[in-house]
Amino acid sequence: MANFQVNILGCGSATPSYRHMPACQVIDFRDRLMMIDCGEGAQLQMMRQHLKFSRLSHVFISHLHGDHFLGLPGLLSTLSLHEKSGSVTIHTFAEGADILQRILAVFCRDASYEIKYNIIRPERAVIFEDHALIVETFPLYHRVPCVGFRFSEKPKQRHLRGDMIRFFNVPVSRLEAIRNGEDFVTPDGTVIANDRLTTPASPSVSYAYCSDTAYNPAVADDVRGVDVLYHESTYADDNAAKAAPRGHSTAREAGRIAAAAGVGKLVLGHYSKAYDSDEPFVAQASEEFSGPVIAANEGMKIDLL
Ligand SMILES: [Zn+2]
Ligand SMILES: [Zn+2]
Repeated sequence: MANFQVNILGCGSATPSYRHMPACQVIDFRDRLMMIDCGEGAQLQMMRQHLKFSRLSHVFISHLHGDHFLGLPGLLSTLSLHEKSGSVTIHTFAEGADILQRILAVFCRDASYEIKYNIIRPERAVIFEDHALIVETFPLYHRVPCVGFRFSEKPKQRHLRGDMIRFFNVPVSRLEAIRNGEDFVTPDGTVIANDRLTTPASPSVSYAYCSDTAYNPAVADDVRGVDVLYHESTYADDNAAKAAPRGHSTAREAGRIAAAAGVGKLVLGHYSKAYDSDEPFVAQASEEFSGPVIAANEGMKIDLL
């Protein structure tokens, strides 16, 4: 069963609050779980949201601030207690890999699974690719090196029309090529055009994650056309003067990026602890972006398919 679901585990900012957990999301993509950022408490949030440790295969760390990283040592050592097998790949800057290796050398000596590192840089790059998915980094504009992540499904195969496949007696050995768009040539040499044998592929969807960043129009180019954009909105208009100097955005600025990029839906998060309501965030972003705007919350699931 194909699935592409974003689970919000934490959408608060750096200072702890009773309302929100620090940054963490888990993408449930087909047969695996891919975590983005890992604030404190991420392992408990996984349990609360019934996301199985055994399915976790990748962790993507946007930058080395505590609210995006400090849940990782605890999570990785817990995985061993659960006798996880296989491997987990940590995608992080060189400094993050170095720190984590030193912590785990003490606290996770006998890991039951392999921990792999993929060193990323604050630049545009493809950092993961398989038959179905591409993950890319792009630069964000924060107080320390920071990247956003774009998850894009690869183009899918066309759907076979059973009636026409039977009508033209297409052999099973040709079906894979026909799903990929080839025509069929009958034994007497007649060419049957692909669009008589198939219907178009389902659309491929994409998701982009931007946290943390000051407003920068360049971000819109990197997230252009995604179906769902998660963009940090640490502040509302009342604290707009604090946003840029601290390397953060307001909800209104997140709305501007969403509008400039032509995304399908905007999800807000990384709220400052100064707020006790999401309402001004959604209202102010909606003044800039005419598409749907939702305020992230712990436990929220967003289905892209
Ligand atoms: Zn943060
Ligand atoms: Zn940060």
